[in-house]
Amino acid sequence: MAELVNLMEQTVFNKIDEMWPNTEYCKCENCRMDIATYALNRLPSKYVQSLKGNMLCRFESRRIQSNIDVTVVVGKAIEVVGQSPHKN
Ligand SMILES: [Zn+2]
Repeated sequence: MAELVNLMEQTVFNKIDEMWPNTEYCKCENCRMDIATYALNRLPSKYVQSLKGNMLCRFESRRIQSNIDVTVVVGKAIEVVGQSPHKN
């Protein structure tokens, strides 16, 4: 039974881990998930079957990053969540 994997999800988390440590904002798991949610709601999803996904993930995620400005959206998400954390 094949599963679907959203490559954008991994791309966003990679980007958060790259950019977030350089900020002074709260670093709790809630904020991390809020940032991911904010960014993923503003980016197109990119579904693949998980079997192919394992092989394609690295390649695809690099391609996604060059095609769409994930950095800008994740940067905005970090800022929005960081400036008013724990709203939920
Ligand atoms: Zn927090």
